[in-house]
Amino acid sequence: MVEGSTASRRYEKVQVIVIIVAMEQEAQPFILKHSLKENNPSPFEHGSPMIAYSGEISAAAGQMITVHLIWNGRCKIHNVNHVATTAAGVSAYASIAAFKPDLVISAGTAGGFSELGAKIGDVYLSTKCVFHGRRIPHSVQPSRDGCRSTLEEYGFGHFRSPPLGHLAAAAGVKQGVVSSSDSLDCSAMDLQLLRSEGAVVKEMEAAAVAWVCQQLSVPFIALKSVTDIVDGDRRTEQEFYANLERASEALQWRLSTVVGCLGGTRLGEWAGDRASGVDISHNCGAEDSGGSSGGDVVSRKFVSDDGDIQQWLFSAAVVGLSVGLGIGLSLVYLGRR
Ligand code: SAH
Repeated sequence: MVEGSTASRRYEKVQVIVIIVAMEQEAQPFILKHSLKENNPSPFEHGSPMIAYSGEISAAAGQMITVHLIWNGRCKIHNVNHVATTAAGVSAYASIAAFKPDLVISAGTAGGFSELGAKIGDVYLSTKCVFHGRRIPHSVQPSRDGCRSTLEEYGFGHFRSPPLGHLAAAAGVKQGVVSSSDSLDCSAMDLQLLRSEGAVVKEMEAAAVAWVCQQLSVPFIALKSVTDIVDGDRRTEQEFYANLERASEALQWRLSTVVGCLGGTRLGEWAGDRASGVDISHNCGAEDSGGSSGGDVVSRKFVSDDGDIQQWLFSAAVVGLSVGLGIGLSLVYLGRR
């Protein structure tokens, strides 16, 4: 059992780190750099696709720490990497059960935004992770304490990372909101929601891992290296493959620095509001991941034009029915007289 809330665990020393990675190409540079060894036998249930690599890394605080990198594995049927949220969530759960980490990192590649100054190979540390693909609009449910909590907000998730501005400065990484969905492409609705959530990168795993960590009270961060520019003019898949190697090397470099900085220290020591041009002051004082503070609740602008029309038609139908009923009742009344 992993004990203590996420907030209290920020003040424990980081000695065991689990890193969850979707693609072999993203994982290899870090595995090679630190000579991590595949766990044999696997610590996971028989038939599980993910593969764990472990080793000791010397941290800046002067001690050796244990790092387990979990690659989500390869699909037996389609022979591709197990990308997206399902495999990421399963890997996170199984590796927390197996390794009892003090910190989980979702590491990988992502799409960045030129309008926010992203360049290929830039690496971002999460301030928060959200799901832009879990859309559950207009489902208002009264909660027990009388506050209105909505399934819409549950859908987005809002998994806060601990405040780590000093770490970002020390590791030379940018910071911001990491947003996940199960799709590589970016629909108009995705783009609208990514912007309204203030996302700086778009990828396919982080929020799923963040959810597992929130449930099990394990501190969590995401570290993502940019392979493609979402608002650029190249086709995502093409650009992604063209830059995968370069972005994976950049990821290895920054991930090694982050792990080296954090090892043997407490996450709480790295709080701070210095971020590379991104204001994270709203995160200061955030005690736990999950839940959304007032500042995070943005107007979703969920209702598309279609939704507006549907609402208008519904209102018109209600008015029509009321008028019809009124006339009918009047006629019955007059007929009786
Ligand atoms: N076709 C590839 C999978 C690519 S999916 C294969 O054969 O394995 C893209 C992977 O990179 C996901 O793990 C996702 O997290 C990340 N990614 C990079 N750029 C992305 C973008 N623009 N949108 C969503 N995910 C992206």
